[in-house]
Amino acid sequence: MRDIPGVFGSLVFGDSVMRSRLPKDIYKALQKTISQGTHLELDVANVVASAMKDWATELGATHFTHWFQPMTGITAEKHDSFISPVDGGKIIMEFSGKELVRGEPDASSFPSGGLRATFEARGYTAWDPTSYAFIKDGTLCIPTAFCSYSGEALDKKTPLLRSMQAIDKQARRILRLFGNGEVKRVTTTVGPEQEYFLISKEVYIKRPDLIYTGRTLFGARPPKGQELEDHYFGALKPRVSAFMKELDEELWKLGILAKTKHNEVAPAQHELAPIFTTTNIATDHNQLTMELMRKIADKHGLVCLLHEKPFAGINGSGKHNNWSISTDAGANLLEPGETPYDNAQFLLFLVAVIKAVDDYQDLMRISVASAGNDHRLGANEAPPAVVSIFLGEELNDILTAIDTGAAYQGKEKIQMEIGATVLPHFPKDTTDRNRTSPFAFTGNKFEFRMLGSTVSIAEPNIVLNTAVAEVLSQFADKLEGSSDFIGDVAKLVKKTIRNHKRIIFNGNGYDDSWIEDARERGLSNLKTTPEALAAFITKKNIELFTKNDVYTAKELESRHEIFLENYAKTINIEALTMIDLVNKKVIPAIITYENEVAELVRLKGKLSAYDNSLEDGLLARISKLTASLAKKLAELEEETVAVRGITDSAKLAAAYRERVFSAMNELRAVVDELELITPAKYWPMPSYGEILYSVI
Ligand code: ADP
Ligand code: MG
Repeated sequence: MRDIPGVFGSLVFGDSVMRSRLPKDIYKALQKTISQGTHLELDVANVVASAMKDWATELGATHFTHWFQPMTGITAEKHDSFISPVDGGKIIMEFSGKELVRGEPDASSFPSGGLRATFEARGYTAWDPTSYAFIKDGTLCIPTAFCSYSGEALDKKTPLLRSMQAIDKQARRILRLFGNGEVKRVTTTVGPEQEYFLISKEVYIKRPDLIYTGRTLFGARPPKGQELEDHYFGALKPRVSAFMKELDEELWKLGILAKTKHNEVAPAQHELAPIFTTTNIATDHNQLTMELMRKIADKHGLVCLLHEKPFAGINGSGKHNNWSISTDAGANLLEPGETPYDNAQFLLFLVAVIKAVDDYQDLMRISVASAGNDHRLGANEAPPAVVSIFLGEELNDILTAIDTGAAYQGKEKIQMEIGATVLPHFPKDTTDRNRTSPFAFTGNKFEFRMLGSTVSIAEPNIVLNTAVAEVLSQFADKLEGSSDFIGDVAKLVKKTIRNHKRIIFNGNGYDDSWIEDARERGLSNLKTTPEALAAFITKKNIELFTKNDVYTAKELESRHEIFLENYAKTINIEALTMIDLVNKKVIPAIITYENEVAELVRLKGKLSAYDNSLEDGLLARISKLTASLAKKLAELEEETVAVRGITDSAKLAAAYRERVFSAMNELRAVVDELELITPAKYWPMPSYGEILYSVI
C-alpha cells in the first residue's frame, strides 16, 4: 500500500466526505449535532441518508445495518439491502432518513437482565452521529445505541454516551470558574492498547477447549515458556508480519489510527495500539479492531485468541485504557499547565480523579470483572485486584508537599502553596513508569491497566467518566459562589489529598506485602468476579449513576443480573467442555496407552530373567493417576449438576466459583500430570509447546 493518506478513512463517511457530498446547510446542521449533541431533524437526516447511500453504493455496498453493542460484549448487526421495488418489476437503491436514524431489530434474543420480557420483544436502535458510518464487507454500518421502547438502555453505548454527557456538564462548570467559559464541550479521550495471541489454525481446530471456551482447559507446561524473555519486542515472524500489515491497512481504511505493533512477553503474544481519540469512537474502533483481528488472522491460516488467559502458566492478555479529558479546543485538562493559575486548574482535575478512583474503587474493579480476567488480576502478571494510583515520584512529592505544607524539595525548590502567584512549574517527566500499577499517571493521562483483553472498553470508561463527573460536581457545588476562589481551590485540593492519599501507591503492585498494606489502608480487594459483583448495586453506587443520569436503578439491576448470568454461563460451558473432553478424548487415549504398558508388564512378567522396574513403575503411576482422574471427574460432574438447583443468581455465580471452578482446577491438575507421562502419539490434543510455537 503506497498512498496511505489517500486510503486512510476511505471506507468512512467522515468529515471530508460529508463536506464534499452534503449541501452546505445540511452539513452545518449535522456538524452542530455532532459537536454539540443537538437533535437531528428528519429533513436533514433524509438528505444525509441519501448522500450516504450514494457514497456507499459507489464503493460497492449493497446493504446497510444498524451496528450496535448489546450486553453480549460484542457487536451486533442485521443487514438490510438498499433495494426497493418500483413499477415494471424493477428496483431502485433507497435509504431514508428514518432508516438512518432509527432501526427496530427484533431484540428478544439479546440479554436484557429482565428489563424486557421476551413477549415485549421490541427494542430500537438510534444513530449516534458522533461516530461515523463506515463500510464493512459490502455493508454500510451505522453506529447506533440500542434501547427498549420504554427508553431503557440495552447496550453499552447508551450509558457510555450518557457518562460522557455527565462529565462534559460538570467539567464545564469547573472550567467556567477558572474563566474558561468559552469551552463548548469537554470530552474524554481514550487510547486502548490491545494484546492478543496468534496461533496456527491447524492446532486450533484440534483443541475443542479453545473452540468452545477461548482458552485451554488442559495443558502441561511446555519445556520452554516465557522465561528467556526473548519474545518481547523481538523480530516479527514473516507470517505474523504479513498479518499485521494487512490488519493495519484494513484498520486505516476504517479510519482507525493503528499506530504501534510489537511482540509481547509470552510466546505467540502481540500488541496493537492506536492513537487515542474520543471515548465513544475509541470504543467502536476497539470493537472493530478485535473483529478484524479475528477475521484477518483466519485469512492467514491463523487464529487470533482474545481471551484473557488462553494458557495457564503463560502471561495472559490485557488492554490498557489510556484516558484523559480534553476541551473542544484540544486542551488536555490533565496536562500540567504553563502558568501557576493553569496549574491550579490542573491540580483540581487531578485530585478529582484521585478522589473518584478512591470513592469508587469497587466500581473500577467491577468494570473489568469477568471469568477470564479473574485468571490475571493478582496473578503477578497483571495488577492486583486492589485498585491504587501511581503518580510518579515528582508529582507525588508535590502532592505530599501540599498535604504537609512543607517545602517542595524537587528540582525547582519552591515553597509549595497554592495561590495565583506561588506554584511550581510542573515536571513533565513521563519516563518514570510503574508497570505494576493498576492506574498510573503517565504525564498527561491516566493509564488504567486492569482491563482484560476481551472486555468492551465501554464498561471501565462509563465508570471512570461518571465517577469523575460526580466529584467535579461536588467540587463545583463548593466553589461556585466562592468569594476567595483560588484560596478555596487551594483548601479543596489540600483536603482532597489528605482524605484520599490512601489510594496512592508508588511501590511494586505485584508485591505480596502490598496486599497487606492495602488492607490496612482500608482499600477494597475484590478477588473474584462474583465477589466484586456483590458490590455493584450498593446504595452508594446506585446513587452515583442515577444522580448523574447514566443508569436508572432498574438498568443497574438488569446489568447486575446479566453480569452474574454471564459469569455462571461461562464457567458452566467450561466445566461441560472439560467433562466432555475427558470422557471422549483423555480417557480413551490414556486407556490405550495403559493397555499397552499393562500388556508389556504381563508379557515380561512371564520372563523372570528380566528387570521390570520401569514397566511396573509406569503402570503403577498411570493407575494411580487414572484413579484420581475418575475421582476428580466424578466430583466435577456432581458439582455441575448440584449447582443447577440454585435459583438466586448471586448465589449461583458464587457456587460456580467456589464449587465448580475449584473442581475444574483439581481435575485439570490430574490431566496435566497424565499428559506429562503419556507419549505424544497417544495424547489426543496438541500440547502447549505445539500451540505456542505453532506459527513459524
Ligand atoms: P505504553 O506502551 O508505554 O503505555 P503506548 O504508546 O503503547 O505506550 O500507548 C500509549 C497510548 O496512550 C496510545 O494509544 C496513545 O495514543 C494514548 N494517549 C496519548 N495521549 C492520550 C490522551 N491525551 N488521552 C488518551 N490517550 C492518550
Ligand atoms: Mg501501556
